[in-house]
Amino acid sequence: MNTEDIVRLDRKHVWHPCTQEKDHETSPPIPIERGEGSWLIASDGRRFIDAVSSWWVNLLGHNNPRLNRALAEQAGRVAHHIFAGFTHEPAVELARRLCEKAPGDLSKVFFADNGSAAVEAALKMSFQYWQQIGRPQKTRFVSITEAYHGETLGALAVSGCDLYRNIYQPILMQGFQVQGPDCFRCPYGLERESCAAECFEAMEKLVSERHAEIAGVIIEPMIQGAGGMRIYSPVYLQRLRALCDRYEVHYIADEIAVGFGRTGRFFANEHAGVAPDLLCLSKGITGGYLPLSVALTTEKIYRAFYHDYQELKAFFHSHSYTGNPLACAVAVEVMKIMDEENILESLQPKMDLLDASRERFESHSHVGEMRRCGMVAAIEMVKEKEGKIPYPWQERRGYAAFKLALDKGALLRPLGNTLYFMPPLTISEDELQQVIDVAWDCIVEVAC
Ligand SMILES: *Cc1c(COP(=O)(O)O)cnc(C)c1O
Repeated sequence: MNTEDIVRLDRKHVWHPCTQEKDHETSPPIPIERGEGSWLIASDGRRFIDAVSSWWVNLLGHNNPRLNRALAEQAGRVAHHIFAGFTHEPAVELARRLCEKAPGDLSKVFFADNGSAAVEAALKMSFQYWQQIGRPQKTRFVSITEAYHGETLGALAVSGCDLYRNIYQPILMQGFQVQGPDCFRCPYGLERESCAAECFEAMEKLVSERHAEIAGVIIEPMIQGAGGMRIYSPVYLQRLRALCDRYEVHYIADEIAVGFGRTGRFFANEHAGVAPDLLCLSKGITGGYLPLSVALTTEKIYRAFYHDYQELKAFFHSHSYTGNPLACAVAVEVMKIMDEENILESLQPKMDLLDASRERFESHSHVGEMRRCGMVAAIEMVKEKEGKIPYPWQERRGYAAFKLALDKGALLRPLGNTLYFMPPLTISEDELQQVIDVAWDCIVEVAC
């Protein structure tokens, strides 16, 4: 098929994710033919550096020879089989490696096939745990403002991004939402590097008052991703762990975006030195190759489900593609590459490069802040620096930057007025510098 036919048929039959399809009248979707390391190559020959890791999934570059081989070898054995009553080596190898790396005593792995599904599984496990140990009144979940945990109804119910959630409000389960950290516009006038997470008081108040009804608190550790790459202090997580211990509430960590080295540590919880009761992982887990997710939990939670069948205490939850062998085989290879190729150790010069660009970005009269955690950096554009007044969302400045960046050879897909970098961990310093330069040029054009 030529490029024109692909676009024509796409417009005729395809409905894209998180997209106002009408925008395609002026900016039709771009057919991608190949990937190569940090690059995506379109069928018309245009090349884009994938600065957002194709929605935060790609970890070790496109068309990675080792991942290709792991996938092909597994395909030559079996692509998929039922995972109830059966098991396979890639799944147990992956589970073993994840539990070895995971903080605390997370020692059981439940498989699912996308991030939202892992969140749903974790919420259901937490709820059912309390039901089965004689605390049936603990049924509600706590999340923070601007949280993002996925789009299925349960995950959406614990999310806080109005854009994705508001219209569905009448059909969402009711939980508690508290004001989360807002370090760029800190109401306490403090800095995320030196504060004691004073903003934790909202969480503290709610949980101390309502813990009898609360099953768990779900949070994205260190970085609230879809909420605008909002980076906050690890002290918040330390205080959360202590609070959850004190009031017998599960700490559910959603590391779907931030796991697998994005923050410079294998798991983001390591920044705080704390361990969750439930840990959700997906996205980078297969290097961005295949859909796979897991919910890790502790022996303690697992034991509450472990009884004679007739007790009906099993976790009766499944997905057709649970534990998909192709995905697990690739995920095992991802973990091997992370170790054998010292991926985490290789990040420092790239993080330095991002830091070195901060002064330039922040010198711009319409950049409020450049923030970074690990290999994730965000530049927040503002209408007025004084008072940190945002541009009205209707102006779609981020979207304008996205379109401009494509013309300049980079895939930067901003969140509102925030431009961010979350490149494959294997991006070269030269490529990263190109991305930084493109982002600068775009900001100069769209932020005025
Ligand atoms: C992407 C994401 C999810 C949802 O994962 P999907 O695979 O898109 O369903 C959940 N939580 C966080 C933090 C995410 O970034």
